Amino acid sequence: SVQTQAQLIDKAEAQQMYKPRTKFSHKGTYGHALLITGSYGKTGAAVLSCKGALSSGAGLVTAYTTQHGLPILQSSLPEAMVLADRYNGKYLEEIQFDLAPTVIGVGPGLGTEKITQQALKTFLKANKIPLVVDADALNILSENQEFLEFLPKYSVLTPHPKELERLIGTWEDDFEKLKKAEAFSKKYNCVLVLKDAHTITVFDGKYYVNNTGNPGLATGGSGDVLTGIITGLMAQGYDALTAAIFGVYLHGKAADIAINHTAYEGLTASMITEFLGQAYLDLF
Ligand code: AMP
Ligand code: MG
Repeated sequence: SVQTQAQLIDKAEAQQMYKPRTKFSHKGTYGHALLITGSYGKTGAAVLSCKGALSSGAGLVTAYTTQHGLPILQSSLPEAMVLADRYNGKYLEEIQFDLAPTVIGVGPGLGTEKITQQALKTFLKANKIPLVVDADALNILSENQEFLEFLPKYSVLTPHPKELERLIGTWEDDFEKLKKAEAFSKKYNCVLVLKDAHTITVFDGKYYVNNTGNPGLATGGSGDVLTGIITGLMAQGYDALTAAIFGVYLHGKAADIAINHTAYEGLTASMITEFLGQAYLDLF
């Protein structure tokens, strides 16, 4: 039954997932997260996802974004490196870069122009690096379901309810939603993060139910931050499933701590990243 397949993720589970840092480590130990994000007027999504990756602990973070986004990122987030697309957000052949990142997060603020769709297809066909797929990259996959076969095994997909509906179609009730999500995750061998008030991560016939987070998260950019966090955790060597479950837990916990200072209304997506360290501290 759905119930026996479900596991509630609480602090005890989060503690078990956490990988402590070792003294003789360096930034190379914690991986390189690349975020293919942003387009004209949506460079904030690139900033937020990179901030999420950095504050989750990734060793290095690079944004692949538009040319006009480059100075914005460099001045608002000096910790991140930036690769600017020669075609200003069309994401064409330059997406085959030599920097060999550990993991790639793709989608926040990307846009869904035809040329971007084509570029994503070209990228997916050539790419072998683990992926976190969100937002407009999910929307492009929904419109071009034949691209789904190019997803590497154990990719993490993070749809909100509307994106999920575009991806798997509508459902009558939560039971049908979970069954369809499970079938999709099996078919494409991916970790499916169903974002909602209680986010459920689906993989290999199991459901992991998150217990952190609050209505303060219902604000622009909070999903972009989550994409960055999950990508950053994978950069650090967490496997895709653990990165998804643990990332969702930390993201919600940071928001739960933050609202003591901000109330629901005052919480912004940037603040989730600012309180992420406290979410780690709260583990022990
Ligand atoms: P997005 O819609 O892509 O920006 O993602 C929104 C993020 O905020 C997801 O991680 C959701 O799970 C979370 N979220 C949104 N609304 C709520 C809520 N009412 N309670 C808890 N988490 C929420
Ligand atoms: Mg989103």
